[in-house]
Amino acid sequence: MSVLVWFRQDLRLHDQPALAAACASGEPVQALFIATPEQWMAHELAPMRADLLERQLNQLGRELAELGIPLHLLEVQRFADIAEQLARFVGQRGIRRLCFNREIPIDEQRRDAAVVARLAHTGVQVSQYEQRCVLPPGTLHTGSGHMYQVFTPFARAWLKRLLADGFELLPPPGPQGAALDWQPRRLDYPKRDSGDWPVGEAAVLARLRDFCARHLRDYGELRDYPAQDATSRLSPYLALGILSPRQCLAAMQVELGELPVERGQPGFVWLNELIWRDFYQHLLAAHPQLAMGRPFKAHTAAIPWRKDRALFAAWCQGKTGYPIVDAAMRCLNESGWMHNRLRMVVASFLAKDLHLPWWWGEHYFMRHLIDGELAANNGGWQWAASTGADAAPYFRIFNPTTQGQRFDPQGDFIRAWLPELAALPAKAIHTPHAWLAARGLADSYPQPVVEHARAREQALALFSEGGTRHV
Ligand code: FAD
Repeated sequence: MSVLVWFRQDLRLHDQPALAAACASGEPVQALFIATPEQWMAHELAPMRADLLERQLNQLGRELAELGIPLHLLEVQRFADIAEQLARFVGQRGIRRLCFNREIPIDEQRRDAAVVARLAHTGVQVSQYEQRCVLPPGTLHTGSGHMYQVFTPFARAWLKRLLADGFELLPPPGPQGAALDWQPRRLDYPKRDSGDWPVGEAAVLARLRDFCARHLRDYGELRDYPAQDATSRLSPYLALGILSPRQCLAAMQVELGELPVERGQPGFVWLNELIWRDFYQHLLAAHPQLAMGRPFKAHTAAIPWRKDRALFAAWCQGKTGYPIVDAAMRCLNESGWMHNRLRMVVASFLAKDLHLPWWWGEHYFMRHLIDGELAANNGGWQWAASTGADAAPYFRIFNPTTQGQRFDPQGDFIRAWLPELAALPAKAIHTPHAWLAARGLADSYPQPVVEHARAREQALALFSEGGTRHV
């Protein structure tokens, strides 16, 4: 009889509770990954993310094989069919116990509930663990026993709990048997080369340490400048669970000697981002309707967004005539990643300048981002569209030109992604049309698809129509 670890978005050996528990059982350990191509398609898994997943899966399979743990790969098209297939699998392989780490979105929860119910008839014990967040969803409450809707008190409660309870990292398991062979596997899903992103925990931990050494202390000053490359770029790894958020805390502690839990301490701003990450995960756990396309603030469902496909195409292709927006979108399309400041700028532009449904942008991001992650993506979009918990107030409307001037002052980021503006001097690059026209180049870059000042007024009216001003 043996114990089975079901790997999902937790593709690592370090700080992996389900794997650690299985290995502590003293029984032979087997591992499983279930590919679900149709479900992934429905969840809009980006081809670049699928490629990263396949590469990490092969790396993990190799590392598990060295420890004597075979990693099996099952393909089941949809979550709905997993319970039955898994019951057959555990029956055939003499499994006594199944260990996995909990996942938060509603489809994953339903899948797991079906598995638990199905295995209850087989005598196979099911053990579930927490690892997605630093503090598990459902463990922080307001005085009235509900999940926080505002970030600041959530963060205060989060820090208090962390300081009271501390945290521990689980070590990777030692050998469980003789080393095994590993044959590389392929996932049957559209893929796009993710080779710019190394896989393997050693490489990811090296990136984490390098970020902490070089940028943890100046993150607060530099994090908003996309040309600076001063953020960690760890999001694809946190999203796939190649890295745990607790490993990030541990690395900060090593670098700084202690966790920067006070505002103003070097490193606090980065810790705060990890708390935002937990906040959105906890929100999704408490409000599963967020995974069903609904706004957090129910009354904002009445906003008459403009369903204009031509404007949306201009936004997707980076042809809006606003250089910082266009550079950001072309960066996303070509590289699968976008800097946080730019995500805020393009999301605000989509909702408040183009007045398009925010969920169109949310879906587009999921289909293209290498770090696409439901809780953070939905949280970011609803923040920008002023429909979410603790969102930007509806009247806060980024001016895309001044955002560019402020956060890409020399235009370096724009030049890197918009070759047609590469020759422009810094003082003209954010408002390039007059400079281009004077040189007979007006056709080389799109005219603005909307005029910001007018679009801003229209957005205020739109929110008013949606009832926001009266709430
Ligand atoms: P760092 O600045 O180094 O931050 C460290 C980690 O903290 C990140 O890797 C991430 O896991 C977490 N984090 C940072 N900022 C946020 C935030 N605002 N909300 C939640 N977690 C955060 N993040 C995703 O991981 N996946 C998404 O699909 C996603 N979609 C977004 C959509 C919009 C419209 C917006 C405004 C933000 C979105 N974010 C998303 C959050 C944020 O933009 C990225 O996490 C960040 O840019 C990743 O870069 P980094 O790893 O260098 O982050």
